[in-house]
Amino acid sequence: MRRLSSIAFAVSLTLLVPIAAAQTSAPPVFTSEAPPVPAELAAYWDTLPARPDAPLFTGEMVTVEARRVAADSGGLVSLEELGRSVEGRSIWHLSAGHGPTPVLLWSQMHGDEPSATPALFALLDTLVEHRATPRVARLLDRLTVHVVPMLNPDGAERYQRRNAQGIDINRDALRLQTPEGRALKALRNRTGAVIGFNLHNQNWRTSVGRTPPRPATISLLAVAFDEARTEDARRVLSKKTCAVIRDALEPLIPGQIGRYDDEFEVRAFGDNVTKWGTPVVLIETGPVAGAQPDRQLTRLNFVALVTALDALASGRVHEAATARYESLPENESRLFHTAIRNATLIPGTGVAPFIGDVGIAGQRIVGTVNGQRRLHLAARIEDLGDLRVFGALEEIDAGGKYLAPLYDATLAPGARLTIAGAPRWPVTIAPGGAASFLLLTRGDAPDTFVVERVIRVGDTDRRQP
Ligand SMILES: [Zn+2]
Repeated sequence: MRRLSSIAFAVSLTLLVPIAAAQTSAPPVFTSEAPPVPAELAAYWDTLPARPDAPLFTGEMVTVEARRVAADSGGLVSLEELGRSVEGRSIWHLSAGHGPTPVLLWSQMHGDEPSATPALFALLDTLVEHRATPRVARLLDRLTVHVVPMLNPDGAERYQRRNAQGIDINRDALRLQTPEGRALKALRNRTGAVIGFNLHNQNWRTSVGRTPPRPATISLLAVAFDEARTEDARRVLSKKTCAVIRDALEPLIPGQIGRYDDEFEVRAFGDNVTKWGTPVVLIETGPVAGAQPDRQLTRLNFVALVTALDALASGRVHEAATARYESLPENESRLFHTAIRNATLIPGTGVAPFIGDVGIAGQRIVGTVNGQRRLHLAARIEDLGDLRVFGALEEIDAGGKYLAPLYDATLAPGARLTIAGAPRWPVTIAPGGAASFLLLTRGDAPDTFVVERVIRVGDTDRRQP
């Protein structure tokens, strides 16, 4: 079992300044009569004490956060150990509010899907800090908010989907062989929640739209409870809640919201929780461009959840149109991390140069270096050829230039090369291959080239199956 070193843990603790110490006057987003403004909520999130990026959260850190939130809440937030994971890690249940409408939110049922976990703590901190504002007071009067941050701490520790038994908890709703799944079902039954939020992350190849495909940064699903995808009053509520979330997020990520496939999965929790009487909204957090994707993704989760709870508390959710959910484009898988377009490829496989695009897939992984959790981007070539129907988070136009594999790691920009015919190198441009390249321009003599740029995608060559 890997643990954070005590030094790293102390550092993470100092980042978590008690919210009461940072109390300021409430921003308009909590005091106005008008519905929350998404950009104001996002800006408010930026003022909250910095937390580690979501993928770096461990069960131990969740325990510290859960105890802190409850202790600093002046009695507003209650905390109980809901259960223990297979390996004995605590699974926490926090609740806030005293309203007649119970709401249940759980995150990280899949250990490597963390974006919502810090957002749930930010949500609870916000309810505590602004409890006296009319908007939050109403929310706490009308709702009781039940939160399970990180249902699968053993999976989170290993940064893997499954629990320590190797079971996908989200396929265990019927057989209930996982203690984590049993804990969630017991809480669902005990609270009788009127709506549930099942908070996940989706593959970074997930896209939305075609012209061009864009990252599906958030995808929504009003979960079906039967094969026929019947629409009853409960499913209407989850569709309307999805519509509210769409309208909240669209100004922040225009064109980057998708609709998740609503096929009924007989073993899944969302589907069965819905069947047991709690309609479920699935939020799948996906890819986003930029240097700090985790901050963006957690911020979006925060905006989505605060807006949805506010709409449920105010009754505004009932005015939403289900069509705003149903008209979302469906998820597709047409996104690369990086696309290098229109290059003349010199693949190093012994074939003659040809014009093509190269699509590189990236997978975020957490490893432990010297006892510290570190986030990496593992990248590899996913596809090559005419890739015009795919989008990418990062585009590199190599029109009129040449692309070779980085067959010699000592080469740097400005280096002059002679490449004749159809060379063979130990590293090649081929599907599954390393995502390291030389971008070349023609030299002034036949068969000569100049290195314009060394392109390395990702920070590790570790290949993922
Ligand atoms: Zn998942």
